[in-house]
Amino acid sequence: MKYVIVLIILLNICVLSHAQFNTITPSSSIYKIREKKDLPMSISEIEQPDSTAINGEPLSENSSKWIQQYLSVSYPLDRMVVNSPYGMRRDPFTGKRKQHNGMDFHARGDEVYAMMQGNVVKVGQDKQSGIFVILQHGNYTVSYCHLSSVLVKTGSKVKAGEAVAITGNSGKSTGEHLHLGVKCDGKYINPDILLQYIKNTRKESQVNLLSGL
Ligand SMILES: [Zn+2]
Repeated sequence: MKYVIVLIILLNICVLSHAQFNTITPSSSIYKIREKKDLPMSISEIEQPDSTAINGEPLSENSSKWIQQYLSVSYPLDRMVVNSPYGMRRDPFTGKRKQHNGMDFHARGDEVYAMMQGNVVKVGQDKQSGIFVILQHGNYTVSYCHLSSVLVKTGSKVKAGEAVAITGNSGKSTGEHLHLGVKCDGKYINPDILLQYIKNTRKESQVNLLSGL
């Protein structure tokens, strides 16, 4: 049931994203967080999405729901600092203006996490993207590129927050970073749309959990 709801929300975002496509400006400052440290301990210590108790204290049905919602999404890195946003930019190799079909994040041998539950649709390597992994979440596909290694296999299922790769400097890259590419129904979209969704989903669940809703 939860998965269905998530998919419905995603579908709505997918439709909205086409309208919002040109209006969202990624801001590096909003991701400059170490989100795990920002959390109240009571939430960050919970390992399982279906937890029904904290420190032996049973949770209400609603609390459980908000915790599950919180854990249904994950940022791809513990520390999110944007090196290069989605959109037109000067190509670092040719100097010419070119579309950048993703977002680049600062990374140094970091674990990369699945942003939602889904399937591993491809693990591969080429001259451009280096070592990469592609995950499917409903009608979204998410690719992580320039990796040093991939921790999952094609065809396996992943949970939100599961480590799927380690960042690196493989392929056509000017230095270690994580390239995050997102497609909706096969078309590239600004990954910031998905990151904003994660941010909002987490914020809503935190606020509601802490206010006892
Ligand atoms: Zn990139």
